[in-house]
Amino acid sequence: MPGMSLEHEALIQFLYLAPVGLVQADIDGAISMINPISAQLLMPLARGGDLSNLFAALESVAPDLRPMCAGYAPPSGTICDALQIPVNAAPHGKAQPMILSLTIVKLDHLRIMAVLSDVTQQVQRERQLRQSDAWLNAILTNITDYALIGLDAAGCVRGWNDSIGRVTGFSAADVIGKPFSMFSAPDATTEAGLLDRLHEADRNGWCMEEGTRQRADGSRFWGSALLAPLPDRDAAAPLVDAEGLKDAAYCLIIRDITDKREATQARQRAVFCDFLTGIGNRRAFFEQAELELKRSERVPRPTALVMFDLDHFKSVNDSHGHAGGDQVLCHFAAVLTAAFREVDIVARTGGEEFGVLMPSTDQAGALAGAERVLALVAAQPAMVDGVAVAYTVSAGIAILDGADDSLDPLMKRADQALYRAKNGGRNRTSCWSADPDAQHPR
Ligand code: GH3
Ligand code: MG
Ligand code: MG
Repeated sequence: MPGMSLEHEALIQFLYLAPVGLVQADIDGAISMINPISAQLLMPLARGGDLSNLFAALESVAPDLRPMCAGYAPPSGTICDALQIPVNAAPHGKAQPMILSLTIVKLDHLRIMAVLSDVTQQVQRERQLRQSDAWLNAILTNITDYALIGLDAAGCVRGWNDSIGRVTGFSAADVIGKPFSMFSAPDATTEAGLLDRLHEADRNGWCMEEGTRQRADGSRFWGSALLAPLPDRDAAAPLVDAEGLKDAAYCLIIRDITDKREATQARQRAVFCDFLTGIGNRRAFFEQAELELKRSERVPRPTALVMFDLDHFKSVNDSHGHAGGDQVLCHFAAVLTAAFREVDIVARTGGEEFGVLMPSTDQAGALAGAERVLALVAAQPAMVDGVAVAYTVSAGIAILDGADDSLDPLMKRADQALYRAKNGGRNRTSCWSADPDAQHPR
């Protein structure tokens, strides 16, 4: 049909000229057409530069695509819309990892069309916007209910206003001279985290964060903390005349925003949660891990990475079906959440692979965490349709090695240790060591 081939030709022309990456593939990902921009974006990701299958090419960074497309039931429509995929850990010194945006449209029961673009710059701007969002959220609403606290240069409380009792239940005597991390729940912060906040406030003029806070009676609330340096005491005067700010180096405002927690978390869930298990996704992991590593450069402390991989997961799927396998993955995600602190970054980084980045933690601490997980998995099997399914998991541990280390090599070392744990017989942990014979799996 001449009409058909003209149309075809026009499409190919369009594909080649388009300013974004375009890929046409069949429903199993086999690529039938690809334009140069796509090839350029996909080539570094594809194993051996093989661009015959879209899902295979993106496997290492977006392992969910194949099941996502297979699970999309409508005859046509948008399977994913501007999904953001971090494609590499930022090389040391670079600000952030590269982010690809991917949209997949199902054309009919045989074909899909993918649109790819590099949105690294946009994502950076969006992140800055999100911060301003939090800031506006904090100052524009319910301003009557806040605790105003003056901090000295080391972040210790030196002044307060009466609201501190109303919001936190502490009396002035409880808080004076204490580091301001005392207002956070113990598992939601670290010593070094306090210094991070001070540095951020110094650098940006303010620092804003939301998290679990703790009252004097131990009860918890979702609170925002706004920290601002006060370089000039006179400048602070119009803000408040409370005695607590007179000689303070920083002003800290804590607000109970329990009513906003759901909204904040729903917003974050949409972008940062793994659709199957509900814990952090690959993107959340890379974003937060980069941030944490950058912080640990400024305020040196050990940082640990534990990578988990479920053992013989193929046979779990074979015995209990893919849906059963999915339930085991959800079970394991719940175990991880229970075994680690709020401050630890817990995520599903791939199909049956999970990563936990532990701030301010040395090898012994990370090993203890990993062992806790193995013990929990052994003690409580997953329940699949009322049947207990026992499974095991292997873990590889690596520690951030000095200030000029970065995420990419850290992950490689954890992977090597994990590989050792697998080789050593699985259902065990292994710590990375430069001497391969010394990596002690146990
Ligand atoms: P090993 O102990 O060496 O890790 O063995 P394994 O079978 O776990 O290793 P492999 O990495 O070869 O297989 C991983 C399997 O996990 C294959 C894949 O079908 C399955 N898988 C990946 N993602 C999912 C998922 O989202 N759901 C389910 N049910 N299975 C998944
Ligand atoms: Mg695996
Ligand atoms: Mg596995």
